[in-house]
Amino acid sequence: MNAQTCPQCGKEMLSGYVFAPLGIHWLSKSQKPPIFHPVWRALPKTLNWRLRRRENPAWHCDQCQMLIVDHSQSLPLRRRS
Ligand SMILES: [Zn+2]
Repeated sequence: MNAQTCPQCGKEMLSGYVFAPLGIHWLSKSQKPPIFHPVWRALPKTLNWRLRRRENPAWHCDQCQMLIVDHSQSLPLRRRS
């Protein structure tokens, strides 16, 4: 994974993964939150189906609580040993 710099403080962010069981839903400032937001409207490649659990590469800054998620790809959930 490529290094990412925090847009807030400029320090190198920790690389890892995001696991979002119901997908990640993003709205622009002009969009009002819908009353009902179905899972199929999640950002592409962020939705996790029961038998096809996936995770997205991500970077996090502990200090600023900033998160950058790459949802251009999803990877099989890593097995815990
Ligand atoms: Zn930061």
